[in-house]
Formats: sequence, structure tokens, C-alpha cells
Amino acid sequence: MKRLFSLLVTLILAAATLYGQEPAGGAEITAQELRQHVKYLSSDELGGRRTGEPGNAAAAEYIAKEFQRYGLHPAGDKGTFFQEFPFLASVKEGTGTMLTIGSNGHEYKLRVNDEFNLQSVSSDTAVSAGCVFAGYGITADSIPYDDYAGLDVKGKIVIILRYSPEGTKNESKFAKYSPLMTKIFNAREHGAAGILLVTGPLDSDKPVLIPFEYAESANSGIPVASVRWDVLDSAMSLNLRSVQQALNDNKKPQSRALGRTTADLTSSIVKEYKTSRNILGVLEGNDPAFSREFIAIGAHMDHLGMGGKGSLSPDTVAVHHGADDNASGTAGLLEVAQYLASQKSHLRRSVLFASFSGEELGLLGSDYYVKHPEYPLDHTDAMLNMDMIGRLTDSQLVVEGMGTSPQWQELVSKHNSDSLHLKFKPDGFGPSDHSSFYAKDIPVMFFFTNLHADYHRPSDTWDKINYTGEQKVASLVSRIALDVANQDTKPAFTKAAASSMAPAGDRQGVRVSLGVVPDYAEDVVGMKISGTRPGSAAEKAGLKGGDIIISFGGKSIKNIYDFTYLLSDYKPGDEVAIVVKRGSEEVTLKATLEARK
Ligand SMILES: [Zn+2]
Repeated sequence: MKRLFSLLVTLILAAATLYGQEPAGGAEITAQELRQHVKYLSSDELGGRRTGEPGNAAAAEYIAKEFQRYGLHPAGDKGTFFQEFPFLASVKEGTGTMLTIGSNGHEYKLRVNDEFNLQSVSSDTAVSAGCVFAGYGITADSIPYDDYAGLDVKGKIVIILRYSPEGTKNESKFAKYSPLMTKIFNAREHGAAGILLVTGPLDSDKPVLIPFEYAESANSGIPVASVRWDVLDSAMSLNLRSVQQALNDNKKPQSRALGRTTADLTSSIVKEYKTSRNILGVLEGNDPAFSREFIAIGAHMDHLGMGGKGSLSPDTVAVHHGADDNASGTAGLLEVAQYLASQKSHLRRSVLFASFSGEELGLLGSDYYVKHPEYPLDHTDAMLNMDMIGRLTDSQLVVEGMGTSPQWQELVSKHNSDSLHLKFKPDGFGPSDHSSFYAKDIPVMFFFTNLHADYHRPSDTWDKINYTGEQKVASLVSRIALDVANQDTKPAFTKAAASSMAPAGDRQGVRVSLGVVPDYAEDVVGMKISGTRPGSAAEKAGLKGGDIIISFGGKSIKNIYDFTYLLSDYKPGDEVAIVVKRGSEEVTLKATLEARK
């Protein structure tokens, strides 16, 4: 013990001499300072830093103050550290929502949120039309089974049962056709003007409504409401119990027009937009030949707030602390900024530090930045992203984006003085902000210490962070940043091969791949893409980042769910016509679908 103690004293003395000049809170990247940042950012006080909420704004203030303290210059709007951007914060049922059913000369006005309610995927319109009962609303050539066979639903309001003739069984051959978004797509394709969804009496003896927020956040293109089965029974003189029994027993459609039965549905959807802020600070380079060239270092600062969408504990209302995701990357960004500020006189290129908000809601902040860059993107030579760097285990660090510049792998290895076990991956697209930059043909690197059981749960807390490990990761990033900032030539950009991870937008059971990268940031009708994968069917067909896919194989696409459902009907080698909106033009392209890897 004694010997160890004296050795420790010697080490401390040596360190004290070495860093004798360094004031407290010095420029070095230390585990202790990382811990301080993470502890504050992931505290209960900041409430999980959800985009648009006070805890997120408080974190932004903290980060801006730190940037200022290190001597970074404001790089946001109007001489501030903040770049404001708008985003869709919530979709709510408006007060104008109404449903009236007319049958046999009687008018029945339904009580909203008791007898019926809207679905969040409903479009914000009114429709008045005759009604048609379309069973489960399923068209399945592979079974075969078709609730729409011989049924004219053009311009009509269709009444559709939830689930399928085989209930909710996952292994059922109907399962693929049962999701609400698929049924809505199918009804729209058959020309329906509106949809009334009903959970049938055999699925719920007690009449229930489908919660407003049940479906995904997307606009289905037509008004959609859910109605209680007992209300439909009495207002339309139906006998849903016997109809559903017949459907389930015989697996034969029971669809029919409902004579003079009409429905007036006014769907009022209120979209609430809020603003959030990226925090941007810059260190200006000193070499006149290079100071107008930039490298960007980023880390998102938002997290999931009290849970809800995006949480892996969706039923728990509790602070989602997000210590690893991504207080760790934010702390890393701050420490790298402080360190590089101390090396400012050695910087040739300028370095932009970007703390993005809105990442968890779909890369909103970084998407906004690349569409409204503070510095020209063609002079942004590289982007280094840190997202979840606090759980270093067995020294394993994942570094993605290695295929986006031919120099990257060697450069990262060269600076690996802490002997981390580097796991290189080529792809430049991925589930974090570097994706937005890669889509603009900028070489990227993404540092990540891997997923864990606390990911996107309230239990992602500060005490579980490996701070000495994180110190190694952040130091590696700082050495790489210094090197890239000072090179004689800008790093070459190359398109990277996709990593093994399934590309976003593709799903289990889908055999083909188009190879597009969806852009979730914008609220558009259709499916917007931010890029195509190199060598993919999409690239060969001539699709481009920014295109909005509005039709696929002759069927209309209103959102990503329509697209994924449609893909499942194709096999490799199939040729498909794709219509995209490109600016104000509509362009038709032909793609040959490839096998999903
Ligand atoms: Zn996350």
C-alpha cells in the first residue's frame, strides 16, 4: 500500500509540474469536466431536454455560455450562438371536428371523443358522401382475399373493421395487410373519400375508440375517424356482430353498399409548430489561404423529455435522462471546443462547433443547418459527429463514415494513441446528424460506443458513464480534428458502401430494396428522400436527394408507410415506374428493384 501511495504522490507531483501553469478548469480534456457537463445536462432539472421544451432551452443556454467562455465566436443568427428552426411539435384534434350520420331519414350527430374521434393521420378536410361497408378493408392477392371485390367505393366513405378475419395473430397470413396505415392506403387506392374505422364487437365486446395518436405521424391524404361499433349499429341499422362472425367463420368478404346511408365528416387537425435552436460557435483559422475553409464538429443535445414517441419504455412517464444519448457527445463537443480554443493559434482552417437540437425527432436541427448553412457547404471540408460516446466497453469504439473519404481510416488509426479497438464501418448514412452532411457530399466520421440496455429509457443516467473511456474518445476526436484542420488539401469525398444495418424505410418481410434514404425532417405529402445509396436501384434510376416520391408502380404515395407497404409486393428484378416531385416538376423514372441485402 505504501509503495503504491508513494508512487501516486510522485505521479501527482510530476503532473503538477507538467500542468503547473494550467488554471482550474483548464483546456485539457478531462474525465472530471466531462462528468460535470454530463451530470448537469442529464439532470432531472433539465427534464430530458426534449426539443421545444424548457429543459432543452436551458441546455442550449448552458452550451452557449460554455462556448463563450472558451472564446468561440457566435456563428448563429444575428451575431448570436443560436440558429433557430421551426418544427412540427404536435398534431391535435381541432374543435371543428364533427360527424353526422344520415340513415332512413334520420340524422344522428355523434358526440366527439365519446362516440367517435379522429385519427392523427387524418387529413384536415371535410367530406360528405354515401357509405359503404368494406369488411376488414383488406386486398390480398396472395391469399387470395379481397374486401373490395365488386365493390364501388369511389367518392364514398368506407366503414372498415380493425384487425383481420384471424384477429391480431402475428403468424396469420392476414397480418401483413392489417396495419391501419396499410388499410388506409388500400381504401385510398380504391378511391374512397373518407374512412370510418371500427373495432368490431368480436375484438372488443365493450365498444371502444382507437386513440387519436395510435397511428404513425403521417398524413394519409384522406379524413379518417374511429367510431364505436354500438353507435354504428344503431345509426346505420347494422348488425356488426353477425357480419363479423360470418367474415371470421368463412373468410369470405361481406362487403356491401349501405343504400341511402350518408356521413358528413369534418376533420379538423391542428398542427402546432414550435421553434428550437442549434447552438453554433466557431474558432477562426489563422492561415489566410485556409481560414475560409471549415471543418464541422457536431453532437446533438436534445433527448426524449418525459418519454412518449421514440422511447423504448413508452408507457413510462419519467425523465429520460439521456446521459449517454447524447449528454456524453455534448460534453465531448464542449471539451473538444475548449481544447481546440487553446490551440487556436495553430489552426489553419476554421472549426465550427455545432450542438444540434431536434435529432431525436428526425435529425431536424442538422437537416435545417445543411439547408440554411452559416458557412458554405462546399467549403465545409469534413464533419465529425459524436453521438453516444459514454459507454466505452472493452475499449471498443465504432467509427462510421470510413468510406466517405479515402484518407479516413489511416488518419483515424494514426491518432489512436490510446490503443482503442476501432470498429470501422464504411457508411456515411446513419441514425445521427452526420447523415445530413453526408447527403451533401461532405466526408463524415461518426464516433459511437454502441447501444446498451438503457438506450432510450429513463435509466440512461450519468452514473453509468465511463468518463475515463469518454476522455479517450474525445481526445481522439480532438487530435483528428486538429489534423484535418491543418492539412494542405481538403479531404477527398467518396460515396460509401452501406453498412450491414438495414436501411431506414425497409422492413422485415420486404425482399427488395430501392436504396433511398428518407428525409424525415419535412412535413410533405409523399416521401422525401435525402439521398440514394451508391450502386443502388434508386441511384441507377436517377433519383436524387431532395426528390419527393409521389407515385410508385402506378400507386400514389402520401407517406413512408405507403412506400414500405408497396415494396413488400415486389421481387428482385421487377421494373417499377416512380414519379418524383423535383422542385416544381414531376419526373418519371424507371427503377429495377434489387434484392435486399
Ligand atoms: Zn437517441
